[in-house]
Amino acid sequence: MDPKYSAPRGTADLTYPESEKTRQLLSYAREVFEQYGYQLISTPVLESTDLFVRSIGENTDIVNKEMYTFEDQGGQMLTLRPEGTAPVIRAYLERGLQSRGLPQKLYYYGPMFRRERPQAGRYRQFSQAGAELIGSMDPMADTEIISMSADLFRKLKLKNYVLRINSVGCRECRKEYIADLKAKLDGMVPDLCEQCRKRSSGNPMRVFDCKNENCVTVLEDAPVISAYLCEHCIEHYHTVLLGLEILGIDYFKDDRLVRGLDYYTRTAFEFQFEGLGAQNTVSAGGRYDHLVEELGGTPTGGVGFSLGVERVLLAVEAEEAEPFELRGVEVFVAGIDIPGVEILKALQVIRDAGISADTDLMDRSLKAQMKHANRVGARFVVIAGGEEHQRGEVTLRDLEESEQWTLEIKEALSLIKEKKERGL
Ligand SMILES: [Zn+2]
Ligand SMILES: [Zn+2]
Repeated sequence: MDPKYSAPRGTADLTYPESEKTRQLLSYAREVFEQYGYQLISTPVLESTDLFVRSIGENTDIVNKEMYTFEDQGGQMLTLRPEGTAPVIRAYLERGLQSRGLPQKLYYYGPMFRRERPQAGRYRQFSQAGAELIGSMDPMADTEIISMSADLFRKLKLKNYVLRINSVGCRECRKEYIADLKAKLDGMVPDLCEQCRKRSSGNPMRVFDCKNENCVTVLEDAPVISAYLCEHCIEHYHTVLLGLEILGIDYFKDDRLVRGLDYYTRTAFEFQFEGLGAQNTVSAGGRYDHLVEELGGTPTGGVGFSLGVERVLLAVEAEEAEPFELRGVEVFVAGIDIPGVEILKALQVIRDAGISADTDLMDRSLKAQMKHANRVGARFVVIAGGEEHQRGEVTLRDLEESEQWTLEIKEALSLIKEKKERGL
């Protein structure tokens, strides 16, 4: 059958088992965030367009080309959030979270939207989980943010990645750098792609985001920010790196890493995985010491990161890491010639005991019911009916061990529980 409707290009429906893997991945992430003392924050999927233009920057790809922006019936310009940091900072300011004491440690997860060309690992609606540490200028805060990704990857049994890190400096050290970079780029203009030409006047550091091979080669001669860092930025950067070394997190210093958003200062980082093709950045973030101020607050340091849920799942697949447990229902109740209410009663007793239970609900033969038990992944089958039912007993079958008992339902439950607890 040709479906009448299809999901918009670049979006996906999550069905089992991907839906379950995603749920477990988010639960691992939540575990890490909570271990570090972060609290959940949930912000709307819609924000005023200005928020993103102001924070991400006017000359960025996200703002120029990728945002889903529309005017609502009331004439308000709204945008489906393309990232999570600006909304969190907006909420931090609007809800006066600084009055609860600093630093504020917040984590979030949910869908983000960017109208990019869809490809493997890149969707127009994608899922991110992220954390923001607001109010600290301490380099240890940067290290903490980075180490949360490393912890999560360890939980997911992932190994084939590299952490790329850079310092993009502060306002002070960037002044001289931008001037020099602009001058150098002016001389390179004939050799650069159209996009880089545009960027070289409006937002010169962004040229390092260009993937055009010719540009990459030409730009090898361009100055890099690391040579221009001020004393404070150098010290901050070194302390972050020292922290990573102490925690045993390997890194690669990449002085061309700038990230595609305007608000980063000092630390910028990305975790890139092998075997994911072009979309190999799985987790990324950095420091944003002027963002709170840009959005109307008092000068407040901050650092954060986000990870792409779909890409983490691709990495898990690429490494065959198997961190997820896909389990069906624990007990399936099959009936032979007994009234439905008897099965209903049995199901309730089992579920009340804290064990998941399912039944056929299709009034099928025992053979068909057993087939269904397999389909729902049941480990045990309780068969109710026949002579046993007259005696107040049921048949318990352990499908994994190919064993079978005839006993009272209560005894059956104890046996199931015992096997469960002992991991048998
Ligand atoms: Zn500086
Ligand atoms: Zn280019």
